[in-house]
Amino acid sequence: MRVKNLIDSLYWKIGALFLVLLIFTGAIFIYVTAFTAEMYVQEATQKVSRPIAQYIALKANPFKDNKIDQKMLRLIFDSASMMNPGVEVYLLDPQGTLLASSVPWKQVERKMIALDPINKFLGCDRNCFVLGDDPHVISGDKVFSVAPVLTNNEIRGYVYVILRGGEYDSATGMIFDSYFLPLSLKSFGITLLISAVMSLLVLRILTRKLRKLTVVANAYGRRDFSERISVSSRDEIDRIAIALNQMADTIVEYMGEIENTDQLRRELVANVSHDLRTPLASIQGYVETLLLKLGKLKLEEQKEYLNIVLNGTIKLVGRVEELFELSKLDAAQFVLNPEPFALTDLIQDVILKFNPEVEKTNLQLAVDMPKNLPLVSADIGLIERVLQNLVDNAIRYSPEKSVISIRISPLVENLRVDVLDEGSGIFSEDLPFIFDRFYRGQQDTSRNSRGSGLGLAIASKIISLHNSELSVESSPDKGSCFSFTLPLVS
Ligand code: ADP
Repeated sequence: MRVKNLIDSLYWKIGALFLVLLIFTGAIFIYVTAFTAEMYVQEATQKVSRPIAQYIALKANPFKDNKIDQKMLRLIFDSASMMNPGVEVYLLDPQGTLLASSVPWKQVERKMIALDPINKFLGCDRNCFVLGDDPHVISGDKVFSVAPVLTNNEIRGYVYVILRGGEYDSATGMIFDSYFLPLSLKSFGITLLISAVMSLLVLRILTRKLRKLTVVANAYGRRDFSERISVSSRDEIDRIAIALNQMADTIVEYMGEIENTDQLRRELVANVSHDLRTPLASIQGYVETLLLKLGKLKLEEQKEYLNIVLNGTIKLVGRVEELFELSKLDAAQFVLNPEPFALTDLIQDVILKFNPEVEKTNLQLAVDMPKNLPLVSADIGLIERVLQNLVDNAIRYSPEKSVISIRISPLVENLRVDVLDEGSGIFSEDLPFIFDRFYRGQQDTSRNSRGSGLGLAIASKIISLHNSELSVESSPDKGSCFSFTLPLVS
């Protein structure tokens, strides 16, 4: 398990990859260094020793009377190897065929030397670098020097000098094995070790952030959103950390909202059941009585019971409609249908509807608005509902013979509507909550007992859908004033 964790860990994966890359680049570096060093030495050797063959060919002619002068040749070979044991001297005919060699004949594998490199060497100045055939092997090149042997201005052959012969190679091979290779490997090993330690350290620092991210993300996975990752810079990992922090904030926010909604839902169900239970129980009671005493009750009594059942049913239907209306307004896909209309006309209509109730309670319903008001743009059906709810409340919470007024004042881009009454007013402790669903204030008059606590919630929702706000000013026993504004037609 532990080993598997190690293999899976990004730290060790990158570390191992880095190590492989280091070894690979190190090996390439050693190879390229050795190769270029070799080429450098070869080129330098050719440049320095270029005139050797020329010198031999000028000082001693190995041909005498169209034959090879063996004595002279021996002298040439011996003095050349005495001067520089690393060189090998060969005598070629004009076609490149090997005629004689300073090394034992049996060590010579190639008897024909290509003329192309020889011609190239002779044709260029000392700045060029040419490799020629190595007579020691069937295929292989060596750095060389060459000069033609002339008799009567005619090429009789070539003195072909391999500048780094077999002896030189075995000497440099020994140096390579005993000095260059161990030194290279040692320095490579030390560099590798230092680089590996350094890179693992750097990786550790870099992956520390990743480990922190993992710990916090795991905590989020366990629904623990308390931790946040501290961000010091703006690198890629920090940007992930910022995104994770934001994600956690959003989740916490949503969880809060879900909890609130859940709480609201539970309250709503409790309120609705409580609200419906009372009229339903009363309806059930009266219907049971009617059934039990069927035929025994007087007609008047039957009528009275049936009226109670009817009122209860009307109340129930009203409640259900209000709830339905509120849920419709709450729906995300709810769309307003704004249209231009005259607020004055709408108010007159609303007043007309309430006339019978106003007369019954000896109330006075007054309208206070200037003439020729501009049109407003709003959803006429919904604004009628708002006015109905506000006037209905004003009637229910006002004593008999008091005055209820609807006032319209033009503002720059809006019309302001105030619904005022001289009723019971609202206690300051109720004021912050009266727009909440199902909230009912502490006032209790015989006429307001039919309240549901939904009227102001519906009105406030409608006004907020019109990008305005339903506000209230009220003090107990002085009355209340509910206000909102509507935009003028632009
Ligand atoms: P309800 O059906 O109970 O009236 P509303 O949502 O319309 O429900 O009103 C919520 C509460 O606000 C009421 O219970 C009442 O206490 C208070 N309220 C609303 N309008 C008035 C008003 N015009 N005068 C006094 N109190 C009011």
